[in-house]
Amino acid sequence: MVLSINKNMELLLEGKSVAENIKKDFQKRIEKIKDEKKKVPCITVLGITGDEASLTYIKRIEKNCNQYGINFILKLAKNEEEFIKNFDEVKENEEITGIMFQQPLPKKISELINQIPPEKDVEGVTDLSMGKLFIGKEDVNIPCTSKAVIETLEFYNIDLTGKNVTIVGRSNIVGKPLIPQILNKNATVTICHSKTKNMNDILKNSDIIIMAIGKAKFLKKEMIKENAILIDVGINFEDGKMIGDIDFEDVKEKAYAITPVPGGIGMITNALLIDNIIKSV
Ligand code: NDP
Repeated sequence: MVLSINKNMELLLEGKSVAENIKKDFQKRIEKIKDEKKKVPCITVLGITGDEASLTYIKRIEKNCNQYGINFILKLAKNEEEFIKNFDEVKENEEITGIMFQQPLPKKISELINQIPPEKDVEGVTDLSMGKLFIGKEDVNIPCTSKAVIETLEFYNIDLTGKNVTIVGRSNIVGKPLIPQILNKNATVTICHSKTKNMNDILKNSDIIIMAIGKAKFLKKEMIKENAILIDVGINFEDGKMIGDIDFEDVKEKAYAITPVPGGIGMITNALLIDNIIKSV
């Protein structure tokens, strides 16, 4: 679906339709798994008690799982020893089809992430999953936020062939996994970060810009070229209001298309996580 928002901007790349398109077969797929494999998808989230902020995110995943009858287990450990014990239990348990680590975690524990069995790595965060993604293997879960960007571009029929695409932000969950996916679509990829010197020149020459830095309203109209396509991954809060890395009001007359925040990449990310959890059975 394409929605015009003003006379200059052609497209508001809203996420609801993209997410609904991803979710449309979930119920049917789960019923089929129950019938044929006599199993139910089951995700376990492992964490350490005390991080209230990330619990909000986990609770949203639980709500989404409940909606589809997916089993959801949260195991919060009191210390590192208990975390390792919980992890050992779920790794071996055949009823548990997916494992997630609640981040952030102490470094020592965080490194255990590579021991998540590949078939249970629903977030695609292990070194093995990341390596497979980079060399183009198909049997791999892709980090959901990065994939949400690709799903958006595909849903709105935005062809990347020969385009200059710039990703701003080089994290392991967004920027880096986007590189092979964008390359795969025959675009020329540039990735910027906090030490990039000539970022404004690069952005001015970009047909598509993907912002993932976590700086509210960072991208302004003077930094983009006329008719650029802008994807906003950023989630920032100002006075309790969610805003992206792009100054939407400032750029909207100059951009060709833009994803809103909220209502853009975030809701697609949530749908893709459920997709990976269903695939894990
Ligand atoms: P990280 O903090 O891990 O990475 C931020 C990246 O931005 C780093 O590579 C950093 O560069 C770069 N950066 C920071 N400031 C600048 C700057 N001024 N100019 C250029 N590059 C800069 O963030 P995440 O990747 O985890 O998240 C990015 C944003 O996306 C956040 O707002 C987060 O909330 C949001 N997010 C949204 C999701 C969704 O579902 N929509 C899911 C996950 C994240 P350097 O490496 O040099 O430090």
